[in-house]
Amino acid sequence: MMPNQSSQHLNPRSPLVLDTKDLPRRPGAMRAVERSAPAPADLGLALVGVPRDAELDLKLRLESVSEGVLVSGRVTAPVRGECGRCLRPISDTVDVSIQELYAYEHSATVETTDEDEVGRLQGDLIDLEPALRNAVVLALPNHPLCREDCPGLCPRCGVPLDELPGDHRHEQVDPRWAALSKLKIPEE
Ligand SMILES: [Zn+2]
Ligand SMILES: [Zn+2]
Repeated sequence: MMPNQSSQHLNPRSPLVLDTKDLPRRPGAMRAVERSAPAPADLGLALVGVPRDAELDLKLRLESVSEGVLVSGRVTAPVRGECGRCLRPISDTVDVSIQELYAYEHSATVETTDEDEVGRLQGDLIDLEPALRNAVVLALPNHPLCREDCPGLCPRCGVPLDELPGDHRHEQVDPRWAALSKLKIPEE
């Protein structure tokens, strides 16, 4: 028998740990879990993410299947970030679905799959955090924008272009002319 890889201790009171002890190990048995949980740290990408301790809203269903427990449902969370073009703050909500199978310890599934393919129960406990993290991070935009057509910043003065008049321009001298203008013909 393969040794259990994920032997780190799970705290049943942790809000992202699901306890299945009330769920009969009979295929088809179900339990609904609705709870809110504080977001773990670093739930997101460089420019956008769920702030630490922000409220995650979990609406999940735990279902016994022959080799384990299928967790499915939705997670909603507030998102904060920065527009990749104009750097203005962004405030949004992410709403993702989760569907993840957790195999019983010592089941055939555990012995024939890798831990990153199929999750594992640890006793009666499920660590929801890795699946939740994947789902939320995948749902976040790689290039967050304050709005689809954000024009970004003026490359010369750094002011958002949509706060500037349409004819905003800087005294631009074409570098080729600038070079020429140094070649002053001496006036005599
Ligand atoms: Zn923007
Ligand atoms: Zn400018």
